[in-house]
Amino acid sequence: MYLGATTNKMPSGRCRSQKVLLILQRYPNLAIMTIIYPSPIFGPVHSRRLGVSLGINLMPSDGKLCSFDCIYCECGLNAERRPALPRPTREQVRDALEATLQRMQAEGTAPDVLTFAGNGEPTCHHDFPAIIDDTIALRDRYFPHAKVSVLSNATMCHQERVREALLRVDNNIQKLDTVDAAYIARLDRPVGHYDVERVIESLCAFRGRVIIQTMFLTGSHDGHDVDNTGEAYVAPWLQALQRIQPESVMIYTVARETPITTLAKAAPAVLDAIAERVKALGMPCSVSY
Ligand code: SF4
Repeated sequence: MYLGATTNKMPSGRCRSQKVLLILQRYPNLAIMTIIYPSPIFGPVHSRRLGVSLGINLMPSDGKLCSFDCIYCECGLNAERRPALPRPTREQVRDALEATLQRMQAEGTAPDVLTFAGNGEPTCHHDFPAIIDDTIALRDRYFPHAKVSVLSNATMCHQERVREALLRVDNNIQKLDTVDAAYIARLDRPVGHYDVERVIESLCAFRGRVIIQTMFLTGSHDGHDVDNTGEAYVAPWLQALQRIQPESVMIYTVARETPITTLAKAAPAVLDAIAERVKALGMPCSVSY
């Protein structure tokens, strides 16, 4: 999506192009190409990590809502993507998903996975547990071999109702980019209070029914080095993994356009070396370059 392409009026009274100019003044390294996914269903798409994936997006179709504001987010920065529309309701998600699954069945295309992802954090939807139940019921009816996956940033898994819902899905994938609070503030930029120790405890509470996903990258932002592939970051992250004992670990790096253009990929050899250290702890680890 080209940020400067439209002039539709924003809720604050500023037109979109004015907002874009303000954002570009504040973030001079902001990329102009980011993705906003259709809502509530998108795809199927071929996911690097998940196979043929039908996306379920619990965020509005015109913007992003997230409890993080990651500088590498392919959906753009929160301030740049503030939506005017509401989130889809439970009923809208269920009906759209069923219609899509019926169409895929008629076409003879089977998804490997139904993936909660999209423009923000799915577990922030107030009906998230009920939507999970609807999705599992529809999966069982139309494509019983498909997995249900949730990609989450782990900010809500301390809530019992969210944790219990996540325990009902096949792939409970939770983000832990680092355990360094200052680095999290620079990279993931939590919107509200974020206590990494409490998040690790929440991840431990899954008792192994969790997959940890971690972004490794290099480059800089606002004059700060954002390379988290060094020992100062990797060693404490490995210690956290030993506490969490996840069923597996997914590590990946910048693959698509990022809103901050001074970020860069971690080298494949560096990612491979980190993955070997995870495997040495007895945990499966996949790498996406
Ligand atoms: S948690 Fe995901 S959706 Fe939210 S800002 Fe980070 S990358 Fe974007």
